[in-house]
Amino acid sequence: MSVNPSGSRKIRNWTLTVDRDLCIGAASCIAVAPKAYALDNEAKAIFLDTADNETDEVLLDSAKACPTAAIIIHDEKGKQIYP
Ligand code: SF4
Repeated sequence: MSVNPSGSRKIRNWTLTVDRDLCIGAASCIAVAPKAYALDNEAKAIFLDTADNETDEVLLDSAKACPTAAIIIHDEKGKQIYP
C-alpha cells in the first residue's frame, strides 16, 4: 500500500485531496457522497473509482461536511476552493 492511499483524485476540473493526518474517520463525507469515498482498514477516507459519479455540488458539500476539514479541493488552476 502506498504511503498515502487517500491521496488526491482528479474529478473533472477539480482535484480533491484527503489529508490522512486530519481524517478522523467520522464518515460524514461518505454520508454525503457515498459513491466518492469509503473508509479503509485504518478508518481513513479513500476515494472510490465511482467518485466521478458524484456532482461537483455534492463533492463540495462532502468537503464541507468533514468535521476536520480533511478534504481539500483545488480548481484546475491550482487555486484552493475549500476549505
Ligand atoms: S468526513 Fe472527514 S474525517 Fe470523516 S471520514 Fe471523511 S475525510 Fe475523514
